[in-house]
Amino acid sequence: MICSRRNFVIGLTMLISSALAPSNIDAKLQNESNSSLIQRISFEDMAFDSNKREQYFKQLYLEMPKDIQKYITEIIYDPDFSKSREVYVHKFLEYNYNYHDAQVFADQKIAYDKEHDAKIWMLASEYDDGKNIPQTICINDRFLEDMKNENDLKSTLYFHEGTHARQRYEGLRVGKFFFGKDNTCITYVNSGAARKEVFTQIREVEAYYIQYMMIQNGTSKVSFSFNSEVLTRCNSYYKGLKRVIPTSKLESDIIKEALKQWRLKR
Ligand SMILES: [Zn+2]
Repeated sequence: MICSRRNFVIGLTMLISSALAPSNIDAKLQNESNSSLIQRISFEDMAFDSNKREQYFKQLYLEMPKDIQKYITEIIYDPDFSKSREVYVHKFLEYNYNYHDAQVFADQKIAYDKEHDAKIWMLASEYDDGKNIPQTICINDRFLEDMKNENDLKSTLYFHEGTHARQRYEGLRVGKFFFGKDNTCITYVNSGAARKEVFTQIREVEAYYIQYMMIQNGTSKVSFSFNSEVLTRCNSYYKGLKRVIPTSKLESDIIKEALKQWRLKR
């Protein structure tokens, strides 16, 4: 009885192991081949070898939290602005410009980005705001100069630029300032009575506030110096917004709301 029971157990064990064995091996081989095909590039590898940067930023895009990724189509490593130019041309063609004009406008945009020494830029236009268009983020080597580690970099890409992408996608979520029957957010275009620079200032106040809050609540574990840098910028854009002299009732109201909504609590 004991013997036959033992045989039964051995038989069962063999049956289970023979049933499991091929799939285990398959899974192991599959994992090995996957990891050799898609080996994660480390921050250090990317910093050392510029040939790995394109793939590295694709990887960071795939690792982005899904609630941010929905506002972004891709992150492009574009050291010579050539890829940005292609996207700009394509974008202007969509706005019914002819090919020649699209190229002229794209070159003007690139000249502007270069002149302003862009490190990280979004291929956005004011006219995209609130139209649920996901944004493309571009990066060059200058952007990496300020980054000590991957967490610093992710803090900027995910929580700062991710906020900008959401602001473009939805419009601004400023207090009670929602427009239309469907609660669309306020945008430069639909507001009609606020200056572009006021929107730019408010966008930065919110983006630095969100970025800093993610550090404060432990989601972003950034370096000490990076933390100080974000806090300094957060305060500086907030003070800058306080100093804006409104030129309309609407400007005055949205500035007040923004200052209330994104004041740092200490
Ligand atoms: Zn910004």
